[in-house]
Amino acid sequence: MSLPIRIFEDRAEAERTLAREISDLISRRAAAGAGAVIGLATGRTPVGVYAELCRLRAEEGLDFSRVVTFNLDELEGVEPDHPGSFARQMREQLFDRINLEPGHAHVPRGDLDPAMAPEYCELYERRIADAGGIDLQILGIGGNGHIAFNEPGSRRRSRARRVELDPATRAGLRTAFAPDGVPRYALTMGVASILSARRLRLLAFGEAKAAIVKRVVEDPVGPELPVTFVRGHADVELLLDPAAASLLDGVGAKI
Ligand code: PGA
Repeated sequence: MSLPIRIFEDRAEAERTLAREISDLISRRAAAGAGAVIGLATGRTPVGVYAELCRLRAEEGLDFSRVVTFNLDELEGVEPDHPGSFARQMREQLFDRINLEPGHAHVPRGDLDPAMAPEYCELYERRIADAGGIDLQILGIGGNGHIAFNEPGSRRRSRARRVELDPATRAGLRTAFAPDGVPRYALTMGVASILSARRLRLLAFGEAKAAIVKRVVEDPVGPELPVTFVRGHADVELLLDPAAASLLDGVGAKI
């Protein structure tokens, strides 16, 4: 099962290309009198795509009024105003800077009572289905092979749920939290939920991602590296800069 790969001149070109694809999708839907449903990710990777979408709003008047968004995950025990919360990151990087209707932006609740998680996760998935399903899902790749917070060991059939974070993931969160305050759990969309999106667009930038990118392409598909489950999706692309692609064989020949 192969994975179409696009290697760009630099990170900015990849970001512009994905933002343009999203903008074309939104405009095409709007012309047909409909909205678009976009799946969003947090972390360092997609920041430039959000900045470019904000620019398209400011300079080209891209209209988000009929767009609905669903974020992949949120950390448990984190209030929506905490600097480490994904809800706040999304507000600062995107939601507050475009004309998205407040009720159209969905981020899983970080301040939820964990006992409510199964019911809440079911509801979150139902809301996505009611919105018509996700048209395009943006994804980063964790150094340990996670997508969203589907940590190693996650199954292909997994749905939205409460998960315990991998030590490697928690180590990566240290900058945003006090040493004893790094969250242990999170709510995440499952692998099966993610694979239901009509388009998957994975991003990886920089040398630090080169080793995991090589594994995504070459390792066997399976729960040891949950991101490998995207291979074989009907409309998936991996967008890279040259540094993230540097360990791949046959660079430039993939698409
Ligand atoms: P990053 O995280 O974008 O901050 O590298 C990616 C991920 O963990 O999914």
